Formats: sequence, structure tokens, C-alpha cells
Amino acid sequence: MKGVSLLCSCVIAPALAQIFDTLQVVRDLPDAVAVNAGNYVSCANAAWPPSDVGFELIPQAPDDDLKAALAEIDTSRIEAIISKLVSFGTRHTLSTQNSTTHGIGAARDWIAAEMRKYAEASEGQMTVTVPSYIQSVANRISFPVKISNIVATLKGSTDPDRVYIVSGHYDSRVTDIMDYTSDAPGANDDASGVAVSLELARIMATRRPKASIAFVAVAGEEQGLYGAANLAQRYRNASVNIEGMITNDIIGSSRGEHNISDPYTIRLFAQGPPLTESTALAASRLSIGGENDSPARQLARFMAEVASNNATGMNIAVIYRLDRFLRGGDHSAFLQQGYAGIRYSEPNENFDHQHQDVRVENGIQYGDLAEFVDYEYVTRVAKVNLVGLWSIANAPGKVKNLTVTTTTLGNDSELKWLASDSEDLEGYELVWRATTAPMWSHSVLIGNVSSVTVPLSKDNVILGIRSVGKNGYKSPAVYPGPSPFPE
Ligand SMILES: [Zn+2]
Repeated sequence: MKGVSLLCSCVIAPALAQIFDTLQVVRDLPDAVAVNAGNYVSCANAAWPPSDVGFELIPQAPDDDLKAALAEIDTSRIEAIISKLVSFGTRHTLSTQNSTTHGIGAARDWIAAEMRKYAEASEGQMTVTVPSYIQSVANRISFPVKISNIVATLKGSTDPDRVYIVSGHYDSRVTDIMDYTSDAPGANDDASGVAVSLELARIMATRRPKASIAFVAVAGEEQGLYGAANLAQRYRNASVNIEGMITNDIIGSSRGEHNISDPYTIRLFAQGPPLTESTALAASRLSIGGENDSPARQLARFMAEVASNNATGMNIAVIYRLDRFLRGGDHSAFLQQGYAGIRYSEPNENFDHQHQDVRVENGIQYGDLAEFVDYEYVTRVAKVNLVGLWSIANAPGKVKNLTVTTTTLGNDSELKWLASDSEDLEGYELVWRATTAPMWSHSVLIGNVSSVTVPLSKDNVILGIRSVGKNGYKSPAVYPGPSPFPE
């Protein structure tokens, strides 16, 4: 801990603003820059401004209920799901829908039947739908084709209108994107992601998170995100409040090109400024340096905080970009509709095993085969997803209408928001970090209030507010603008 602490971290301080006003602030200054000349990233810039506001942020820890759920994730089931999906030969979006054993129609029906089996254990709380539409001829679509998504929605117990989505795509491809007859096993891309949706649906069906969670498998990803785009549009048309969407795409192997292995890391891609912000809000965001504090990035920070721990055995490498170069994923379709979408992907890819005809050439096996999947790794990625979804769905919703007061010049910062009347709410927490820091570094509980003034200049740090539940779970932070940014 740096500096002098004002309050014990367990104390809720409803009148914190007044406390800050009356306390004399004593500050430890960092070493002179010259002392740290060999390492400028860990010197003054990282330690400045010296501040006594809050404590070094301690990540939220999994509770016993969550640990019990984690223990139910079954590696052999994940392996069986991936093997079954591979057994359909090809799951190309244009492949046959008239067979019960081959092609994307058979895969769709099998996934839906599995989800319905899990839903039977939910006492009516999980419902399975297969929203479909006919996609007419378009880019990478050579004839009209029915595109179907499978959606198993678990209704939240106290806040059912707040929804989170976990998704993978069940379609697959080979070298020629229009080849819909050759075997396209798609074990890693993306039977692995579908396996996470299925296994989490099974485990969560008997549980009662406060907010709703949709466990999803979409089609048409390889042809151009058709399934996800249709689904995101449906949610937007119905004004569904989706506070987070996760796609798991290519999460099946820790071993990449050059045989590099990194079995305890998963990448998490998160885009910067939202695509759907108005011109005025985008200009406001730029003027106050909010480019790194989009809802998608707050969601990624949240996931890294709750799921990089011994409960998952994984580190989350947050990547501040939409996706890999030249590549895309289903989270993009949700971002296009103004929802916070993020993407998990393995740390080092092997492109001999993606989008390739299954063949041996010069002694090298090409193709997305099940033999290249590391099922223990997929199991750990499933744990990362479960911890994230459980923690976010049991926390209160995000703070609404958060603003930072900019009407007068001053060195204190005043934040205001709309008080929630949720019975699950304990209060709020202020978080902050240096403008160059990637993650929130400090936090302080501020009680059940709707404004706070802190002796910390908004010009020098990034401030945020998050909701705290009576159960201890905390929401992702929200970043304040002079006017509220859409969340
Ligand atoms: Zn994919």
C-alpha cells in the first residue's frame, strides 16, 4: 500500500465527501526521476499523483457457491461435445440441413437438443429458442440459406431484464470459404467455443444468478458474422439491456506456431471508443481522454480482475484492440448495435490448423482437427468464463447517468449518478488509476450515496464508480463524462 490510508477498506463511509473535506492530506512523493533513470515505466509516471484516496485495489475473490460451480466443469464432457461437433463432417453455413448426421442442420439440432436437456433441470427458468432467418444471396452466400442460432436463456432471479451473453460459433470452414462439402472439422474454430456455451449452460441451469444469462451458439460467422448480426439486431429491436457479450472463438489450444506453449493464458480483446456514440459524445470522450474507458474495456478489466486467479488457474491478457489484424468475430456484431462485446482467444495461434483443407503436405498435417485440441486448456477457459459470468450476474447493475462536474475549475473532483433502488445494493465504490495505467489500481467504498467529492484532480487520473452488492459482488466500473456516456 502506498501513502497514508484514510479508512479501513471494510468501512462504508456515507459522508466521505465531508471526511475528505476536513482531513489534512499527507502525501508521500515518489523518488526523483533521475533515481529511476533505468526504468521510466515504473518511476514517477506510474506513482504520480501521490494520493491518499482509497487503497490498492484488491481483486474480487470467488465465493464458495462459485467454487462449487467451478468444480462441476467436466473435461470429459467438453471433449465429448467437441468430438460430436466434429462428427458432423462439415458445419459450413451452406452445407446440408436435410441430414440428421451430417452438415450444419444436424449440428444445429444436436446443440438445441442438448440445451433443452439441460433446461429440463432448471424448473422452468431456462428456455431454449432457435431464432432463424433466411439469408438471401450476399457476400460469401451463393444461394438463399436458413441461418439459425441456438439461445438458452436463464432468467435472472431478481434482475431478469439485465442480460449477459456467452457465445461461440458452430459453423466451420476449409481453405476455400465457399467449399461447403469438404470435411471441415472446426474442432478449435469454433467447436471449442460452443463447448463453453454448452457446458456453462448445463452447470448454470440449476442455479439462480440475479441477472439473466444467455448461452448461445451462432452460425454464419465464417461467411461474415451473419448469425450474430441477426441476433444482435433482434436484441436491439426488442430494446434488451445487454450489459455484456462474450464470444469464445478459437480457445482450444495453448500450443501455437513454432510449438510455443502458453497453457495458462487467454487473450481478451476489447475495443476502444464505441462505434455508436454520437458525434458530440465522441468529441467529448476525446477531449477528456476517455478513449481507453469504453464499456467494452471496462468489461474486459472486470473479467481480468475476477478471473485471473487460482480458481481458474489462468492469466487474462487483455488486448486493447477490437481483434487480431485481418480477423473478426461475433463480438463485432454486438458492438455494431451499441453493446459491449469482447472476445476470448488462445494466446498463440497455429494457422496450419485453421481454415485449412484437411491434408498432409510435406509431412505437415493441416486442418482444424480434434487431435490438436488441449481439453484441459478449454476447461480452464470455461472456468474463466464461469467466474466472469457468475460474478457479473450476481453483482448489481452498472451505475447509471454518471457525470463528472466540469462547471467550475478546481482540484477536487465531484461525481454524480442516479441512485439505484435495487434491494441487492449495498452502496458504491470509487475506483481510480493513473491515466497511463491499464487497470484500476485504487478503490474506496463510499456508501449508498449518489455523489462524491474527492481530493483527486480529474485532470490527473481516471476516475470510475461501480456498484457494490450486499453479497460483496461489484459491477464493472463506469467512466464519467461531463454528460453521461451511453453504457
Ligand atoms: Zn472462429
